[in-house]
Amino acid sequence: MKVLITGGAGFIGSSIAEELLKENIEVVIVDNLITGKERNVPREAVLYKADIRDNLGEIFMEEQPDYVIHLAAQVSVSSSIGDPVYDGDENIVGTINLLKTCVRHKTKKIIFASTAALYGNPQFLPVDETHPVAPVSPYGLSKHCAELYIQLFSRLYGLPYTILRYANVYGVRQDANGEAGVVAIFIEKLLNGEVVNIHGDGLQTRDFIFVEDVARANVAALTRGDNETINISTQARISIQDIIGELSLIQATSISPVYLDERPGDIRHSILSNDKAKETLNWNPEHSFSTGLRKTVDYCQSEHLSIK
Ligand code: NAD
Repeated sequence: MKVLITGGAGFIGSSIAEELLKENIEVVIVDNLITGKERNVPREAVLYKADIRDNLGEIFMEEQPDYVIHLAAQVSVSSSIGDPVYDGDENIVGTINLLKTCVRHKTKKIIFASTAALYGNPQFLPVDETHPVAPVSPYGLSKHCAELYIQLFSRLYGLPYTILRYANVYGVRQDANGEAGVVAIFIEKLLNGEVVNIHGDGLQTRDFIFVEDVARANVAALTRGDNETINISTQARISIQDIIGELSLIQATSISPVYLDERPGDIRHSILSNDKAKETLNWNPEHSFSTGLRKTVDYCQSEHLSIK
């Protein structure tokens, strides 16, 4: 079996590549390396430096992938607000171009990396897949548009899909620059001996999922969850203060964050139901927050030492 991953040189895509290789599945990656890195790509995977908005016909002809896992995207919420045209081009037009190629080359199924961002401000918790879609950023909207195109192509051309809506993903190879997740930023600051900033009182909660668990959900979706939309989360409430507490334990040091003003528009609490994922994909998140965080800190520490 061969799987083509778009965005496979990025944070989440590279973990999916590793997980597939563990299962003896061949991996081909299409990535323009705009945020991804060549060194993230496992040695056994084939990398094509290409853009999903370009003609991918030759790559598909050469590689004949059975399945496609689509992660390549403009992933920054703030960039999407600054440049919604670029965001739409990457996330909507790029997805349509890929879908056309999948149909032409009779791909068996496409698995799409979607996001909790499309739910907007939660009307109830935990947010399940029936929650209204009400994005508050162009990024949330463009990911939802991509979902709708995937569903349309399934109806028009019979291309099976699974849409996975990820909660906040953290873990190894997450870039602490740009608009990274709070976990990567905090760890980077601590390793550099810098002060950690918290916006608001730090009691706001999020649903953090370890990247290896997300990768396992993608592998499960190769054979399960056809034409379903499924949240991928731990369904556990972790506050920003909890992250500081866990990091203090791991580092055996007391961390004194600096409290800044709350950011306007910040969602107070967000938690996704994972009941459907457990049932449909026969999947469970294996990492508690402390286990995943420990692995992430170990990875960042070894990277930090190798860079110095
Ligand atoms: P990332 O930036 O590390 O990965 C994105 C990858 O796509 C990068 O390797 C980048 O070079 C590549 N890429 C971007 N535009 C491309 C294009 N036009 N053609 C080819 N390659 C292109 O980000 P990530 O956090 O790993 O996100 C991966 C996917 O998961 C995205 O679709 C994102 O929307 C989704 N997602 C991420 C999170 C999270 O918490 N990180 C949460 C929900 C959903």
